[in-house]
Amino acid sequence: MAESVNELLAAIAAEVRSCTACPLHETRTRAVPGEGAADAAVAFIGEAPGGDEDRQGRPFVGRSGQFLRHTIRQVGWREEDVFIGNVLKCRPPGNRDPQDEEIKACQHFLMAQLVLLQPSVIVTLGRFSLHLLVDTRLQISKVRGQHLRKDGQLYLPTYHPSAILRNNNLQPDFYRDLVVAKKLSTA
Ligand code: URA
Repeated sequence: MAESVNELLAAIAAEVRSCTACPLHETRTRAVPGEGAADAAVAFIGEAPGGDEDRQGRPFVGRSGQFLRHTIRQVGWREEDVFIGNVLKCRPPGNRDPQDEEIKACQHFLMAQLVLLQPSVIVTLGRFSLHLLVDTRLQISKVRGQHLRKDGQLYLPTYHPSAILRNNNLQPDFYRDLVVAKKLSTA
């Protein structure tokens, strides 16, 4: 089972790398499909690749990514236990916000990945994944740390790691949210 899921995830990643559905393919260095185990219990979903991710073709490898990956290890996951991905698979120039048309063109990749992974819990990082996956009306400041359920899938919204780098006061909540997600993923 995990073997065939792996193959399907690899097929999606290959499609992402050759995607030309929106103008971001013209400015990307490398597309960033996302990475992780086919049997991951948790999926972390961010916004879009930044400069480091664009150069390496891997999600969350820059400063905010190192902080995310460090916290993931701190709460007791191994990186092999988790999937890490983004709403957009290509970097918006200058790290500007994703645009609606780009999200529309790209979202089917993330949806397909999540259908295959069926993680016990999806941790949304920041507002773009929260709005796409759960509800556009939700505000992070109001719902972070809460368990939300939609169509049978459990979500735990939290801050984007780059928000923590900008405001260190948010770090305890971020850590607590990941501890809760870890408990939910093994419950
Ligand atoms: N920010 C994101 O949202 N995703 C990444 O992969 C890196 C930074």
